[in-house]
Amino acid sequence: MAASEIVSDIESYLTRLFPLCRSITGEPNRETLRILQEIIPITIHEVPSGTPVYDWTVPDEWNISDAWIENSDGERLLEFSDNNLHVVSYSQPIESTIDWSELEPHLHVHDNLPDAIPYRTSYYKKDWGFCLTAAQYNKIRQCGGPYRVKIDSRFTDGSLTYGEILLQGTSQTEVLISCYICHPSMANDSLSGVILTAFLARYIASLQDRQWSYRVIFVPETIGAIAYCALHESEMKNIDTGMVVTTVGGPGEFGYKQSLDSSHTINRLVQEVFTEAKVPYKTYPFDIHGSDERQYSSQGFGINAVTICRDRYYEYPFYHSSLDDLKFVTANQISETLELYEKLIDRIETQAIFRSTKPNCEVMLSRHGLYPDIGGAQSGEKEKRTDLDLILWLLFLCNGKRSIQDIAIQLEVSESRLWPLVDNLVDKEVLERV
Ligand code: ZN
Repeated sequence: MAASEIVSDIESYLTRLFPLCRSITGEPNRETLRILQEIIPITIHEVPSGTPVYDWTVPDEWNISDAWIENSDGERLLEFSDNNLHVVSYSQPIESTIDWSELEPHLHVHDNLPDAIPYRTSYYKKDWGFCLTAAQYNKIRQCGGPYRVKIDSRFTDGSLTYGEILLQGTSQTEVLISCYICHPSMANDSLSGVILTAFLARYIASLQDRQWSYRVIFVPETIGAIAYCALHESEMKNIDTGMVVTTVGGPGEFGYKQSLDSSHTINRLVQEVFTEAKVPYKTYPFDIHGSDERQYSSQGFGINAVTICRDRYYEYPFYHSSLDDLKFVTANQISETLELYEKLIDRIETQAIFRSTKPNCEVMLSRHGLYPDIGGAQSGEKEKRTDLDLILWLLFLCNGKRSIQDIAIQLEVSESRLWPLVDNLVDKEVLERV
């Protein structure tokens, strides 16, 4: 598909998906996934409220129909229907007449941007609230009380919704691609990542003779990722690498967040993508703050997940506010980041990864015809690397995670020097391709 068609496709999904009031659960999340099914046939799954998932519990499902603040004459001062961000996500229902002192603690304005509506949530503390601009706040305060306040929200014994698609390659080894679907009406965080992930999955599905398998998931952040890990524990524990796709559509600087182990191949591949595309980029070291890599890279899973981003979360002034909108994010900006992710997939596909079939202690080389007849002559010095030395290093380093490209860089030899040795080790059945 020509780039311009992709841009106009992304544009139409931005327009359709932006107004949905997503949260960690609720009907708009299902609607979001149903719309994404037009791009790629993801399967929609439900996890019942109350399901224990490690240290957490899937919460009740939350849906909201309407909310407003009126003055004593019945004049509307603030309406949820104007902007999804006007109500704190997961607000308790309320219908009451209250004065300013009771209302004020439930009003939230942005600390730095008076014209923005801030994004606030209260998932696990029972509370309610409204978010508004400084001008709206002042108008409400000036009109005096009492105020009629209504939030028409419902908590039900429902479910948490997530989407997934498994794209099988010739190898069963999987790469994880994850995005989060829980943010209402903000374009860079997180709608841009959701749309990019769907288009990236479609790109992967179109690759002929795919080497790797890809597990692509659309989950509510944190609780959804935790639930997914709990429900797919053995599959997730078998995954070594992946990407968490978020904040990919801003107008600003490109960057990438390194994976848990900055020496993991995936980091080199991202750097090569940027260098080859001649795109300047910022490097963010791994940090326990961020998105769902917090779950995937936790001790039990240890997945090395990277994020290529553009105006990364925390960094742009409109983050978590109503100004993170469709003026700030454009389809063209998302499609430029999509190209980088596609190039990353292309690089992953060309990685050749092997593992030792005998990982416990050294292989007895002579048993496999790999040892020179007279022992004791090999040198440990780099510039004098013998075939025997390289064979020992290959058997030591091929752990099912490092690629031959990585190993060549580490040993400071060319890939072409290693390949005949690798082929021989595969023939002797002491190495196998992952
Ligand atoms: Zn966020």
